[in-house]
Amino acid sequence: MRIDIVTIFPDYFAPLELSLIGKAREAGILDVRLHDLRSWTHDRHNTVDDTPYGGGPGMVMKPEPWGEALDAVAAAGQDGREGGVPRLIVPTPSGAPFTQARADRLAAEPWLVFACGRYEGIDGRVLEEAAGRMPVEELSIGDYVLAGGESATLVMVETVSRLLPGVLGNRDSVDQDSFAPGEMEHLLEGPVYTKPAVWRGREVPPVLLSGNHGAVDRWRRDQALRKTARMRPELLGEGDPSRFDHRDQEV
Ligand code: SAM
Repeated sequence: MRIDIVTIFPDYFAPLELSLIGKAREAGILDVRLHDLRSWTHDRHNTVDDTPYGGGPGMVMKPEPWGEALDAVAAAGQDGREGGVPRLIVPTPSGAPFTQARADRLAAEPWLVFACGRYEGIDGRVLEEAAGRMPVEELSIGDYVLAGGESATLVMVETVSRLLPGVLGNRDSVDQDSFAPGEMEHLLEGPVYTKPAVWRGREVPPVLLSGNHGAVDRWRRDQALRKTARMRPELLGEGDPSRFDHRDQEV
């Protein structure tokens, strides 16, 4: 997968050299390219913002540098390697919720471009214009307001990247995660344990030491149902009700 990120703070993305994502980049699974929006400004001060039309507080990101940046990034893909056009992802608190299901869909895309807003956001015409030549998704990582799109982009890039084939050693771990499509889609994962079997007088639940895989699976599902009921009860009302069997109902 190719990922282009346009930002006024390219240094913000140093963590993408670490851990799973760093390894995925080294392995050629992920091709991340950072672009400084200011390189598409033409004034002495490399201005990317201006006062809002209609008045009000704060500044708005100017359309000209964004237009040129998106032209250049999209054109850079026309070397035939990626083929087609990228999907433009615009982090914004006013976007559709970024969920695991959406991350799964994005992980199937060959090429994503992230446009990191700052200040009060990007001039509205930029997305309108871009939508004429590429798919555009405005996505929110939660109901709160960050100072910029960089941290939201890091969240989305990490979530999508770990779903790419070859990034995680054991693909099963993705399928058993909270929110994973399938049995876990509307559930939270319960507690997990490792050695030693007794720590500070606290024992690991005995079923996990039993070697009985059926019993372990049942216990994990019970724990997931309990944790979901405790932390996010609204999730139990989502999805197809037939996903619950009679054992689930007893929990
Ligand atoms: N005035 C905007 C509003 O109320 O919708 C908030 C702008 S915010 C201060 C600056 C930038 O941070 C946004 O353009 C967006 O890129 C990013 N951002 C803030 N909160 C976000 C969230 N919850 N999800 C994704 N991006 C967010």
